[in-house]
Amino acid sequence: MEEELFCIGCGAKIQTEHPNELGYTPQSSLEKGLENGEVYCQRCFRLRHYNEIQDVSLTDDDFLRLLNELGKADALIVNVVDIFDFNGSLIPGLHRFVGDNPVLLVGNKVDLLPKSLKRGKLTQWMRERAHEEGLRPVDILLTSARKPNEMTELLEKIEEYRDGRDVYVVGVTNVGKSTLINQIIKQTAGVQDLITTSQFPGTTLDKIEIPLDDGQFMFDTPGIIHRHQMAHYLGKKDLKIIAPHKEIKPKVYQLNAGQTLFLGGLARFDFIQGDRASFITYVSNDIEPHRTKLEKADAFYEKHVGGLLQPPRPDEVEDFPALVRFEFSIKEKTDIVFAGLGWVTVSKPAVVAGWAPKGVDVLTRKALI
Ligand code: GDP
Repeated sequence: MEEELFCIGCGAKIQTEHPNELGYTPQSSLEKGLENGEVYCQRCFRLRHYNEIQDVSLTDDDFLRLLNELGKADALIVNVVDIFDFNGSLIPGLHRFVGDNPVLLVGNKVDLLPKSLKRGKLTQWMRERAHEEGLRPVDILLTSARKPNEMTELLEKIEEYRDGRDVYVVGVTNVGKSTLINQIIKQTAGVQDLITTSQFPGTTLDKIEIPLDDGQFMFDTPGIIHRHQMAHYLGKKDLKIIAPHKEIKPKVYQLNAGQTLFLGGLARFDFIQGDRASFITYVSNDIEPHRTKLEKADAFYEKHVGGLLQPPRPDEVEDFPALVRFEFSIKEKTDIVFAGLGWVTVSKPAVVAGWAPKGVDVLTRKALI
């Protein structure tokens, strides 16, 4: 029988027979890889060299299997979330799966939020939201996986809470879990870019073992796909645009009732009723908000989507899902969140509507900032 090989990018079992399934690599590449001592599956290879994603399907059963494993283990669970897309990055029902294991909640990509934001306030906000979901983390930490100097505190906390046990790192796709683990590996073992990272969701598959000093392991688990993340509805180029790359600059709009703001062609915010007030948008700096009259907004969108209102790009308009409307009656300072895209802060009582592509959630939360 052949020796089992695993991709050093994503951890999938290497196979040479089924091009559309996990771990596929052409025989010739496999041989080359063996010579170099670096075997990647084709998917990770493309991702690393061309920054290109290939679709591979992962079933919900696999995720359930993984989650059930968490409860059986005696381990520290490190749950990485994207602080910019907090709601989109919570794992539904995680608290039921972890059993008695402690959970360390890590809010990644803190570099995207305005620097003026106080860290203590942010972790407090995360704690409240986690509690609402039934999750009681032992501690909450903010990090930026892109910045090596942010890792020290995380590593110290992991050591403190794991108390000699294994560590499972879990998170939905695209929260920066691979980047974070790469940083950890770099700092602890000096191996760079061991795990595949990408701009596209759903790229870390199967479990990867990273040996720890005391004979225990850190396990990087596959990203769990959150179907309502905006990223699943967009083309690659657009994903690059909507995913913020640096500190987002909030934009303030003074609006009267009866005005609409478009966030590119991706989302729409209607101010329906209430006194004139300021509204603040928090989206990637590459997305240009456009203001128009509410009564003309439908026609405006129809005419300009793919043009003035981008993304989507012109050739994507046809397949782009229609925007779906959610209405809210706001009493206190609230964020209207477009899952994965950003949010609009409403500071005074108002009736508003948020629109997002069919399938993507629009929800409200206590204002973050
Ligand atoms: P995974 O699916 O959770 O493993 O996510 P990846 O590690 O592949 O990262 C997803 C995207 O987020 C990539 O484009 C990363 O460059 C980006 N990313 C990861 N960590 C950070 C961070 O701390 N700050 C910012 N701004 N982007 C990050």
